[in-house]
Amino acid sequence: MNRREFLASSAAAGAAAVPIRRLRRAAAPPWYATMRRCGQLNFNERDPLTLDVGGWAEYWASLRVNALLVNGGGIMAFYPTDVPYHHRSAFLGTRDLFGEMAAAARARSIRVVARMDCNYSWEEAVQAHPEWFERDRDGQPRRHNESTWLFKTCMFSPYFTEQMPAIYREIGKRYAVDSFFTNGWPSTGALGVCYCESCQKIYREKVGGVPPEQTDATSPLYRRYYAAFMDRLLEVWRLWDAVARESRPDAVYVGNLGGGIRVVKDLARIGQVAGWFNADHQGRAGDTPLWDCAQQGRVARSVMQGRTITNVTGAYSNSRPVWRHVAKPAAETTLWMAQTVASGMVPWFHWLGGSPEDERWRDTGRQFFAWLAAQEPHFRNTRSVADLAVLFPQSTIAFSRQGTDYLQGLYAALLQGRFVFDFVHESDLSEKTLGRYRALLVPNAAYLADEPCRQIRAYVQAGGSLLATFETSRRNEWGDARSEPALADLWGLTVAGELVGPAANSYMRIEERHPVLAGFEGTSLLPGPENRVPVRLREAGRPVLTVVPSYPAFPPEMVYPRTAHTDEPAVVLRQRGSSRVAYFPGDVERTFWRSGNPDLGRLLQNTVRWVRGDQTPPVSIAGEGLLEAFAWETEPGYALHLLNYTTPNLTWGLVDRFHPIGAQRVRFEVAAGRTIRRVEALRSGRVLPFEHDGTAVRFEVPAVVDYEVVALT
Ligand SMILES: [Zn+2]
Repeated sequence: MNRREFLASSAAAGAAAVPIRRLRRAAAPPWYATMRRCGQLNFNERDPLTLDVGGWAEYWASLRVNALLVNGGGIMAFYPTDVPYHHRSAFLGTRDLFGEMAAAARARSIRVVARMDCNYSWEEAVQAHPEWFERDRDGQPRRHNESTWLFKTCMFSPYFTEQMPAIYREIGKRYAVDSFFTNGWPSTGALGVCYCESCQKIYREKVGGVPPEQTDATSPLYRRYYAAFMDRLLEVWRLWDAVARESRPDAVYVGNLGGGIRVVKDLARIGQVAGWFNADHQGRAGDTPLWDCAQQGRVARSVMQGRTITNVTGAYSNSRPVWRHVAKPAAETTLWMAQTVASGMVPWFHWLGGSPEDERWRDTGRQFFAWLAAQEPHFRNTRSVADLAVLFPQSTIAFSRQGTDYLQGLYAALLQGRFVFDFVHESDLSEKTLGRYRALLVPNAAYLADEPCRQIRAYVQAGGSLLATFETSRRNEWGDARSEPALADLWGLTVAGELVGPAANSYMRIEERHPVLAGFEGTSLLPGPENRVPVRLREAGRPVLTVVPSYPAFPPEMVYPRTAHTDEPAVVLRQRGSSRVAYFPGDVERTFWRSGNPDLGRLLQNTVRWVRGDQTPPVSIAGEGLLEAFAWETEPGYALHLLNYTTPNLTWGLVDRFHPIGAQRVRFEVAAGRTIRRVEALRSGRVLPFEHDGTAVRFEVPAVVDYEVVALT
């Protein structure tokens, strides 16, 4: 679409164009709010000897990036710094590599972000400023595990509040950079414990005198430490953000917030101070699901409310083991970038070292970015059209040590059922947020504070629907047990005993037919969850599924149920007005994830369909293959993103090639009164025939190779 067509379609769009004009009148968004593509070259110490600045600048310009990340300093200065103990590259000589690269980028209208590293410094700094460094229990500074001549700095120390700001100020003053990014900090992973002077003071004043022995939320010391840690993290973030603005009012500080769903630090609090969320989530390894990047996008969106989110794609092979200087397969890299943009994030393409011997990655990035640039308006999303919300159970993941299997199981079932859904963060369940969705799906949020429980109840009482499982709301956010799950009244249940499991060879018996049991006509027995909360109904009633307790699976002579029949519910299904509530006392989604048993996947999908109700979904997609879909209202119209995950490499290793899937028949709901004039598959470059019937637009996507974006304008 050219500019004229875009303007014409925007004008034709009528009502949809209004919010955009309003936004523009209100305040000009900061530059990073409209940024669509980023690049990063990570210098190494030796690069000043050989780096071809002009050649690199041309490469990044060919990707049509809006911003380029270049190493400023921190561990190592790539410019002639005057800040004491800011270590210069041994090969810098008279060069100003950072300055040269920044100027070359600017000359091509590319914004410059100084990529910093605040996490390590050198022996000379340890001698002069011992207070800057983390210490072991025995007082020894902590060395980097590979580059053992580097020492870990402490975020509670003045290194973070004096030395790093001094470096930012120098860079800001000399180069007027557009932003600062810190590699590796704060990260969303587990909290470390340090024994330096600054930390001793924190423990004395805020924690209870001593460092927490265990980083486990059952420890009251850890809870106070977590709070003190988060306070410090935000204090540092705000300080650095203010320092970034000293030289340029439109600059911003952005930290590293990768980690996907495996989040320990409080993302909701960080989201409140972050003008820009960067997920340094560069790739996957081992058995990490293929959809890990799209899932990262959903997590970030749940706390950023439309503000900028970027995700880094490592072009190098960041598998296990890692290879920094060879490219990963083009298919894997492309699918990662596709997940980035499909989920509403801005891609940031990354290579390490200025003199690559492997050049294969260059075209992978260039092809994808050039295509994105050509289709840019269709990636300017104004809202998600999903009508299902999945609660992102951050406290449970961060504090319960129960892992992410529950969420992965529900996620896999939603993908198999081709649902279009969003994540909502447990700390943002207001009426404004939940009111957009027909149903809230809760994968075992065992640790849930009082306020989200209250908000979920209000949502259900106002007509919203709910699917929840297992120990949801049984504990507060830190894991302290409640006498009854806070939401048990919504399910009409009471807890009848201690947790049962893990136990194999238990079942669910079908007591009566119900829409959630569609497709199970040939059986009265379904596989049971490995763990369950024993419950009983508060009022007389007949459960649709009852529990068949575990019995021996070996030897065959012993394999028969010891209890003829129970009236213990394996599911509760309640309906009041438009609100439908489903609760599984067992960990059906986790058991599905671990076993892969398709009956459990089907049961979950059926139940999601039932709680959503009889209204037609906003998007339905029929066809073969495993795919993940995102549906957006965009500035020019609507866009449906289809990611093809059909591969034998789903959870093993890297994707080396694509396995195209055939025709996908789509029904897409548009706003009443909205006329769609053109349906185009942007990746294959085909204009698609379509039918427009009231608010429904029907079309067929003939095939999906890696990724397809269908624009409705
Ligand atoms: Zn410390």
